[in-house]
Amino acid sequence: MYEPYPVPELAREHKKFRYSSLWTFAKQDLRLLAFLLIIGGCIGLGIGYFWICIFAAFSIFFALQLRSLYLVNEWISNRPYDVPPNLDGIWGALLFNVYRAQRQERIVQAEMVGLIDRAQSSLVALAEAVVLIDESHQIEWWNPAAEKLLGIQAADRGRNILTLLRQPSFIEYFNNIDQAPDGLKMKSTGFDEHYVQVKMTRFGGESRLLVAYDVTRMHNLEQMRKDFVDNISHELRTPLTVLSGYIETFTDQEDLNPRWKRAFDQMQSQTRRMNALVNDLLLLSRLENDKKIAKNQIIDMPSLMNQLYDDAHAYNVDYGHELNLDIDSHCDLIGSDTELASAFSNLITNAIKYTPKGGTVTIGWHDDSEQGYFTVEDTGIGIDPKHLPRLTERFYRVDSDRSRQTGGTGLGLAIVKHVLMQHQAHLEIESKENRGSIFKVVFPKERLYHVS
Ligand code: ADP
Repeated sequence: MYEPYPVPELAREHKKFRYSSLWTFAKQDLRLLAFLLIIGGCIGLGIGYFWICIFAAFSIFFALQLRSLYLVNEWISNRPYDVPPNLDGIWGALLFNVYRAQRQERIVQAEMVGLIDRAQSSLVALAEAVVLIDESHQIEWWNPAAEKLLGIQAADRGRNILTLLRQPSFIEYFNNIDQAPDGLKMKSTGFDEHYVQVKMTRFGGESRLLVAYDVTRMHNLEQMRKDFVDNISHELRTPLTVLSGYIETFTDQEDLNPRWKRAFDQMQSQTRRMNALVNDLLLLSRLENDKKIAKNQIIDMPSLMNQLYDDAHAYNVDYGHELNLDIDSHCDLIGSDTELASAFSNLITNAIKYTPKGGTVTIGWHDDSEQGYFTVEDTGIGIDPKHLPRLTERFYRVDSDRSRQTGGTGLGLAIVKHVLMQHQAHLEIESKENRGSIFKVVFPKERLYHVS
């Protein structure tokens, strides 16, 4: 921590200089010289050695000036922060001006140091961890919270942050901070069973400010929510299977009273919806929890596209749309075939569901050697742009009634989003109300496998 220099008060003796001009001080020297010359002249005339006494008067004046010069030099060299020696004449004025300029500078410096101290002590008091990292990724400064949450110790000053926080997810975030504006949630390296949200900002070129805060409570709540949904979905599965089994048996009976037939048909369609909901919830929770699902299979895209196209035909029976398949890429995909097939098929069934009868749905696979594009284009009801940012949220529906009528669970696009996240892909949606939509899945180059 910086020690500010003491700022001594201006010497009282110097106050007389404050408003005087340089001529005032020069006059003091001239007066002294005149005084010495008169005295020297009188003595010289008296004893008959006029010029010798005048010379002696000049010498005394010169010696006094040399003494002042010596005192000035001594002050500047040995004790520049003390009050300067009290000198008359031009030397006194010079000293005073140097002293005043220096004092002003020390006041500014003291203010700056005070400001730095205040900033530092507020950072020290923060519950959030703050770490300053220099251009060469070395730890420059940190606060006590960083010791607790990130396990940084005194010996780590100057150490590369990537040798301290070595989790692959952190290294990836460190190298691409612009791509994760919300930062990264990771296990605390200093505090067992705790989680921290880490956020980094660049400043002054390549230096970085890292801020981390404890999100263990939020993490635990999130985990509780996931476990709850997972458990309840599992628990609902068995009773639902039993119910739908019996309902199917009753519905299939030929001698069923028409009044009951309608009721059983409705029960059957509702149990199917519930089944779909439970299956989607289980799939979502598996996607969230299980990060190790195989994602490096080479997926034969022409074959997958044809499979999806055939399934679309089966689903399209009630809608009678014109279905098109458009493949102009020689690339395959690297990923998990079951997950991607389920995401693609969600997009296709949506396009069919949300297009009034007799429309057109086109499924496409393209690439521009930089990225791969799976597209589903429809001539359907479209989506008002204001809904687009929230469309992939769970249970977000533009029109709940229509979604229910079509048997939608409200989870389809949330599943798509999760599958794509696991493949470093993203979804782009273009849509015009009553004109149709294009859902485009964009895969990065690393996910493309060039078929020779
Ligand atoms: P749902 O099971 O309700 O279809 P999704 O998550 O698949 O749930 O879709 C969310 C909402 O997005 C739907 O309710 C629908 O309003 C809208 N949507 C999805 N795809 C399309 C599409 N191709 N055309 C128009 N609206 C769509």
